[in-house]
Amino acid sequence: MKPVFRFAPSPNGELHLGHALSAILNFDMARAAGGRFLLRIEDIDPARCRPEYEAQIRDDLRWLGLDWEEPVRRQSEHVTDYLAALEGLKARGLVYPAFLSRAEVKAHVTQFEKNCGRWKYDPDGTPHYPTLERDLDPDEAAERIARGERHMWRLNVERAVAAARDVGTPLSWTETNTGATQATPANPAIWGDVVLWRWDAPSSYHLSVVLDDALQGVSHVVRGMDLFHATHVHRLLQGLLGLPAPVYHHHPLIRDESGLKLAKSIASTGLRALREAGETPSGIRRRLGLPLA
Ligand code: GLU
Repeated sequence: MKPVFRFAPSPNGELHLGHALSAILNFDMARAAGGRFLLRIEDIDPARCRPEYEAQIRDDLRWLGLDWEEPVRRQSEHVTDYLAALEGLKARGLVYPAFLSRAEVKAHVTQFEKNCGRWKYDPDGTPHYPTLERDLDPDEAAERIARGERHMWRLNVERAVAAARDVGTPLSWTETNTGATQATPANPAIWGDVVLWRWDAPSSYHLSVVLDDALQGVSHVVRGMDLFHATHVHRLLQGLLGLPAPVYHHHPLIRDESGLKLAKSIASTGLRALREAGETPSGIRRRLGLPLA
């Protein structure tokens, strides 16, 4: 079987040099391996994603000299797939409805830190969600949901890790970012009870990305180092859902002059702005230290 690579942007802003690096690396690696290159539009967040950005993404990628297979998978068209997976996890008691507001979480954490020392924080610096609702009475939870109380569905990470172990999944992934192939142990507990279904958007990034990678037969995930830690959760979900694990390659991030991670709003590194200022696709490759096409 041919290796399958994908570039999976969210159409919530303009592409910058960091995206160009991801996209070109995927494209070049697919070509070198005689593999396939897919584009996937990760547009499950209706508040932030816009069709104009999707059109611009396609235009920028084409300008860079990349082409991909059609039709392109657009996540917003496959919510039922993600919902089916969530329902499966519900039936196994691995997710629970989480009702605490951000303010309530903050108050809980502040109270804890006043009396008992430091709370646990995830790799992004966000406090872990308190585990108070893991064993909420199911009737009470159902009643609150029926009343329309706002909630997310969160993974009970402790139970999920135990369940993955029961089915014999080794919680590690193959990482190739150092040039060598390396088994990296997955430790999803560093995230606490992650959100798998949001009240303000269907699905979560974690759930849809692992399902789509499996569904599309993606064998190699090449993406920025900012998603390295998310892979701990992705590996766990793959184990729970019986999905194959791709090989992962997390490339270094492109920083701006002050050493900060690029944001979609930074004009000086946006592909559109660079192009309008006269930059060429070869120039972009040169800036990124990539061989010319
Ligand atoms: N959609 C994600 C983003 O734009 C990337 C997902 C991935 O490569 O796994 O940051």
